[in-house]
Amino acid sequence: MGKPTGFLEYPRQTQEYLPVAERVRNYQEFIRRLPDDKAQIQGARCMDCGIPFCNNACPLNNIIPDWNDLVFRGNWQRALAVLHSTSNFPEFTSRICPSPCEAACTLGYNADAVGIKSVEQAIIEKGWDEGWVQPQPATAKTGRKVAIVGAGPAGLAAAQQLARVGHDVTVFEKNNRVGGLLRYGIPDFKLDKHIIDRRAAQLEAEGIQFRTGVLVGANALPKGIASDAKETLSAEAVLSEFDAVVLAGGAEVPRDLPVPGRELEGVHFALEFLIPQNRQVAGDGDNPISAKGCNVVVIGGGDTGSDCVGTSYRHGAKTVTQFELMPCPPEKENVALTWPYWPNKLRTSTSHQEGATQREYSIATKEFIGKNGKLTGVKTVRLEWNEGRMAEIPGSEKLFPAERVFLAMGFTNPPASILDAFGVAKDSRGNAKATPDAVGGYATNVPKVFAAGDMRRGQSLVVWAIREGRQCARAVDEFLMGESVLPR
Ligand SMILES: Cc1cc2nc3c(=O)[nH]c(=O)nc-3n(C[C@H](O)[C@H](O)[C@H](O)COP(=O)(O)OP(=O)(O)OC[C@H]3O[C@@H](n4cnc5c(N)ncnc54)[C@H](O)[C@@H]3O)c2cc1C
Ligand code: SF4
Repeated sequence: MGKPTGFLEYPRQTQEYLPVAERVRNYQEFIRRLPDDKAQIQGARCMDCGIPFCNNACPLNNIIPDWNDLVFRGNWQRALAVLHSTSNFPEFTSRICPSPCEAACTLGYNADAVGIKSVEQAIIEKGWDEGWVQPQPATAKTGRKVAIVGAGPAGLAAAQQLARVGHDVTVFEKNNRVGGLLRYGIPDFKLDKHIIDRRAAQLEAEGIQFRTGVLVGANALPKGIASDAKETLSAEAVLSEFDAVVLAGGAEVPRDLPVPGRELEGVHFALEFLIPQNRQVAGDGDNPISAKGCNVVVIGGGDTGSDCVGTSYRHGAKTVTQFELMPCPPEKENVALTWPYWPNKLRTSTSHQEGATQREYSIATKEFIGKNGKLTGVKTVRLEWNEGRMAEIPGSEKLFPAERVFLAMGFTNPPASILDAFGVAKDSRGNAKATPDAVGGYATNVPKVFAAGDMRRGQSLVVWAIREGRQCARAVDEFLMGESVLPR
């Protein structure tokens, strides 16, 4: 345990954000890591509880009390080793994870939780600064070849684990750069892309081959899915060349809103706006969709919706309104009822704070209104919720002016064409059917084909994708070698 009285002496401190007026002027990352001395003080607040609920709530089971203590004592290199023992990419999660660990922190029961995510970022960024994050190529090769389809956090985590135990790993990615939604989805202002590049360079130095611009399996993709593929590779070709295949292609089919007027110019899927924005920042050409001077309506209240809000402000939108079908959650959770679980409460993201975001709850979209084929407004109706069932309130119709609508209502499943090409069975939601069980986990119905990340579990979080990539790697290694030293 750090300092026995630390939690009584020091307040919670988290990463700092650049002031709104400064950050909305550009797309640069605005999160500033805690300086070392402040991170040490934060580490001192950890009580090293008998049952560390934070460790259990973290999908990676990060060994949080240990690295808090090590940071408090100034043993940063050891803290980094402990952090890396459960996570391949703490630099991603320490920026964009919603931190279920902090919701579960025992100190959070009657005081402010330890700033776990800030300590995590301080450790990993110090590790990069000091040159402690080095390639760890395998000492012996197995001669087995593994194909990974998809270079998102799940695919990259699986690739790194498998390469480190000596397999020849090739990652196929249909887009022109690796990273999945970290690269093309999550805005640069939340996650600077050089953070992906420096990790990808480590993976390459460990022997992993990236083949970008290659679409595996499907020849065609549903509307709303981005692809830079210049080449397609059939499932048969991959199966004949490789000893095992990991499908980690995400869950890219966006949920649509098929109401009258959906075809109007100005109504877009969220990623049709967000992906070109990241490409623009990367120097690939201008975003064809502009929100400058527009009344923007974002439909959907999650991370994707939030990212549309922040990007719209940076474009210079006139107004930004966000719709949510569900009722407004309580401002504050009832800790006695919810702890240590993830509480339902009103969450105000950094993007919401970047302007006068109007957030509308219990509202449904009835129609998109337009003139000369162009969107001019959104017709809505208020909803009443009763025991989980919703009903429209008669006479509550309202028209919101809008020249841009971004549909951010989540993703339904991976494209069926990719799973079908491999003959992989789907679950009831259309995801690749495979369990995360300790034995036989991540294996699909097709011999030597595994699935992980959003492609298996459906739309989720980066921290879950990394966990699945790691666990799937162990399952693949066991399949290829009969046993594995990789952690589960
Ligand atoms: C806008 C947005 C914001 C988000 N914000 C957050 C956040 O703040 N925090 C958080 O934890 N999570 C967030 N998420 C969710 C998170 O990004 C995903 O859960 C996570 O990236 C899933 O990882 P993955 O590796 O399974 O799939 P993905 O990241 O989707 O990567 C899959 C990759 O596979 C490639 N691919 C697919 N099919 C093929 C094929 N047939 N051949 C070749 N390549 C293929 C795709 O191009 C893609 O690059 C956000 C999601 C979105 C859309
Ligand atoms: S990965 Fe997420 S849940 Fe785990 S320690 Fe980091 S912030 Fe907490």
